[in-house]
Amino acid sequence: VEWIPYNQLNDIKEIDKDDYSIICSAIWTDGPLKYNYDKIERIRMPNKKVALKYLVDSNNIINEFLNEAKSYTIENDDHSNIITIYGISQDIDTKGYIMVLQDCYCENCGKIYTGKRYKWCNPCQINNLKQNFASWTSGNEKVDKFIQKAQLKIDKLDDAIFEWIPYNQFDYIKEMGTTLYSAIWMNGPLCYNYDKMEWKRNPNEKINLIFYDNSFKLTNDEFLKEDNSSLFESDDFDIKIYGVSQISETKNYILILQDCYCEYFAETHEIAAM
Ligand SMILES: [Zn+2]
Repeated sequence: VEWIPYNQLNDIKEIDKDDYSIICSAIWTDGPLKYNYDKIERIRMPNKKVALKYLVDSNNIINEFLNEAKSYTIENDDHSNIITIYGISQDIDTKGYIMVLQDCYCENCGKIYTGKRYKWCNPCQINNLKQNFASWTSGNEKVDKFIQKAQLKIDKLDDAIFEWIPYNQFDYIKEMGTTLYSAIWMNGPLCYNYDKMEWKRNPNEKINLIFYDNSFKLTNDEFLKEDNSSLFESDDFDIKIYGVSQISETKNYILILQDCYCEYFAETHEIAAM
């Protein structure tokens, strides 16, 4: 922890505010010291984005301020769940003290990221999905509701986003078993890009299709009527479920899974998912 002169902090923008504190983002010109294993010395990482936390009236509650500062970690570790504190500064105008923290507050809602290493804010992700509901439809209200419910179960960034996938998105459909097919999904699933912090499609992804028809366990009605929560708890295998589609000719619904079935023993062997 170091004393950071206020003029080192630039481009200060307010993110969130309540009765006790204000959170801002800022750029720290010189940046924090980080140990460089090659050079065997600590070097600065300039123009580091940081979070600033102001406690209202910090001069009169300096003990509280210092106690809170002590609750953060000085370890510069992105993997830890505890927020890193780089140092303390003082606003030149108000004389208020400021904690200079790791960039860990969502710029959208002002809350601490649910996954701070990749700046993942689950409430904001869920909001985005909700706002997107109007932009797609399966043509069947029941199916839409089913997909919406599944989308809102997302709770980490390597989850798949469950979608309505038009059947014409599939190419090279190949039978692997009576109800199991492999295919290429042309647009491909949405994957979270860690660097850009946004969703991008992975085109021409090989996937598995599971056909539900009268010869299989579930008819269309049952498929939708059932509380399908069990479908999304296939954590035993970590199989990703990408969504639902409907075969144009038969109108049967199908489930789209990550390519996880062995081509040779499709019916009986699930190979470990990637
Ligand atoms: Zn957020």
